[in-house]
Amino acid sequence: MAFVICEPCIGVKDKACVEVCPVDCIHEGDDQFYIDPDTCVDCMACQPVCPVQAIFHEEEVPDQWKDYVEKNRAFFQK
Ligand code: SF4
Ligand code: SF4
Repeated sequence: MAFVICEPCIGVKDKACVEVCPVDCIHEGDDQFYIDPDTCVDCMACQPVCPVQAIFHEEEVPDQWKDYVEKNRAFFQK
């Protein structure tokens, strides 16, 4: 399980989540930030600091953004 960054991050990318993550598992991509699901420890620190509510637990991602679960994972498999 892990937290996932969804569409609202695109165009915002303010790094608020990066600054609070205790395990440095949030990395910058071209369009948005991504959470490494194998490193995330589910601490929830990032979720409340995101100004656009882009971060969700993997099991609570809204239906329209379900593909972001795989998009976050795929970013770390390049
Ligand atoms: S839940 Fe915690 S460990 Fe996972 S990305 Fe957010 S701040 Fe980092
Ligand atoms: S806090 Fe939200 S908008 Fe800012 S970089 Fe993280 S996910 Fe993107």
